[in-house]
Amino acid sequence: MELFDVYPLYDVTPVSAKGIEVIDDKGQKYLDFYGGHAVISIGHTHPHYVKRLKEQLDNIGFYSNSIQNPLQQELADKLGQQSGCKNYKLFLCNSGAEANENALKLASFHTKKSKVIAFKNGFHGRTSAAVAATDNPSINAPLNKQQEVTFLTFNDFDALEKAINQGDYCAVILETIQGVGGLDEPTTPFLQFVAEKCKQNGVVLIADEVQCGFGRSGKFFAFQHHKIQPDIISIAKGMGNGFPVGGVLIHESFKASYGLLGTTFGGNHLACAAVLAVLEVMEQENLTQNAAELGVYFLEKAKEIPAVKNIKGRGLMLGLEFDFEVASLRKNMINNQKVFTGGAKDKHVLRFLPALNITKNQMDQFFDALKAELS
Ligand code: PLP
Repeated sequence: MELFDVYPLYDVTPVSAKGIEVIDDKGQKYLDFYGGHAVISIGHTHPHYVKRLKEQLDNIGFYSNSIQNPLQQELADKLGQQSGCKNYKLFLCNSGAEANENALKLASFHTKKSKVIAFKNGFHGRTSAAVAATDNPSINAPLNKQQEVTFLTFNDFDALEKAINQGDYCAVILETIQGVGGLDEPTTPFLQFVAEKCKQNGVVLIADEVQCGFGRSGKFFAFQHHKIQPDIISIAKGMGNGFPVGGVLIHESFKASYGLLGTTFGGNHLACAAVLAVLEVMEQENLTQNAAELGVYFLEKAKEIPAVKNIKGRGLMLGLEFDFEVASLRKNMINNQKVFTGGAKDKHVLRFLPALNITKNQMDQFFDALKAELS
């Protein structure tokens, strides 16, 4: 049977990895500054992560989602404490799209409305409702267009107010740092205005922290740079360091009831062990702080490169904007410099999303490789 070929792949086959280093089947070493779209948060095969997952595998000979799994509460407690979001409740699922799907569903149930406000260049995943909440034409093909979406532009106060005043929206969904789109961010006054208008109009504010959350921006959640409190926060990617897991943090003002949401695999033992290991390493190694500090170092280094026209993002969610399309630069970085980076919907942006425990020395290696390739 052939694989259904829906996205291009680089011709590299990793067989082992440690930290930011990846070794392929020919013994060639690569440096991974992309982490599979911001998934690798604590580094490949971190010893604590591997140990915790192995122990969990050894200890589990059954699977059931209808009996007690104490790891879920342990995870919720730890997440609440580390994120500062103690006044939220946690629902676990398996991916970012699923997290957003659940978030939009909850917003719709809560308000008994279905229209959604999203933002241009946003990306919220590939399921029916979450796909609808993106303006990316290549993926904007919802199977089930229950959720009519209005796309606005960041920092357009008038358009936001006009739309929300219509009174038929259940939710505003946004990334406080856009990932796939290319690292655009709304301003703090705009985000605070969105939060205030949502509150006044009974509209649910959903922060999609699937990519920018879990320490990546230099704070636990990227919205925390702007002093707003979303009603629902969706999480995935870095939370599992490669193990497929997602979740929604739901403000305590939302009432839970049996049957409201459901899942077969969400919150399974291995997924919980993976997330707990990530949180433990983040705490022990002070990784959110490292992301903040190394983000500043990145800015200084990037300023030294004349070809870089703009530096986008914050913490370790970063992009370099050039006045040319970066597809071949990215390819050459892999083939010639043995370095993984990312592209974006904005074709001029090269994305840099390393593990949060990257060192200055490793960052220097990235800039040496970039300079060599640009010269
Ligand atoms: N939300 C954001 C901000 C994302 O970047 C992504 C994936 O890139 C998703 C949601 C979808 O996540 P997943 O691919 O785990 O479904």
